Amino acid sequence: MTPTPISSITLDGREFLVKRDDLVDKYLTGNKFRKLHPLLVTPNQTFNKIISYGGTQSNAMLSISAMCKQKGWEYIYYSKKISKTQEEKNSGNLYLAKMLGMKHIQIPHSKYRDVIDELQFNLDEKTFLIDQGGAIVAAKDGLDILAMEIREQRPNVKALATPSGTGTTALFLALALPEYIVYTTPCVGDVNYLKKQMSTLATIPENLVILKPKKKYHFAKPYLNFLDIYKKTLLSGIEFDIIYAPGMWECLVEQTDEKIMYIHSGGVSGNESMLERYKILYQNP
Ligand SMILES: *Cc1c(COP(=O)(O)O)cnc(C)c1O
Repeated sequence: MTPTPISSITLDGREFLVKRDDLVDKYLTGNKFRKLHPLLVTPNQTFNKIISYGGTQSNAMLSISAMCKQKGWEYIYYSKKISKTQEEKNSGNLYLAKMLGMKHIQIPHSKYRDVIDELQFNLDEKTFLIDQGGAIVAAKDGLDILAMEIREQRPNVKALATPSGTGTTALFLALALPEYIVYTTPCVGDVNYLKKQMSTLATIPENLVILKPKKKYHFAKPYLNFLDIYKKTLLSGIEFDIIYAPGMWECLVEQTDEKIMYIHSGGVSGNESMLERYKILYQNP
């Protein structure tokens, strides 16, 4: 694969570089593409079915669907029960994932944990289970490739940035690139939760810097200052996702001052349904 290009944007008068991992594919983008890379290069006949689970707005859910279509694998996705309105919406990640062939199974809240915990025990050798958020052990190999690309491109920065959900991307990137500072911020839970998540994967290296969000944000909720940052970056020429990216940009602008390269992890396909929620909540902000 040819390395993804590097662009630049100006935000609050500062120039940032942006590693365009969002341009890999329409749906299989960013760090999900990196994390799934080991599966993407697995021979098609190794598996015939992929099972995963989690939220119905998930970028990982959609990326896995795009991968399964490409590979000719059946794809079954479990989530908690959702409303009829959500189920029948014809935009957003769930809609797109189903269009790509994903079979969606809803579980009542009370049974959800049990059903998910059971999944691993009922797999045949042609079925592969991907934990929530695209978490596969081999994700490190895909992120090593990203690290290698960055090293070869030699961007004129000493620091990188990427927002965290599970923290897999930031952690493995920091481990693979000790010569760079890697900034991240928790978008799910708080700093301690993120550290705990990361510690289950590897020891957190010193060059990984976790910035504390200005205030407590709940994951995937609409915030007007997030919408503001989204619009500013869009005006500067690049569309980012409205769930993870704004929190990271806010921290970078307020808590750092060196030149930084932001790793664009895609996820823009979820923006349409997110913008709809802003419209309903704030009456056309
Ligand atoms: C999934 C995702 C993240 C979080 O990645 P982790 O490796 O789980 O920390 C960040 N940004 C975007 C756009 C994503 O889709």
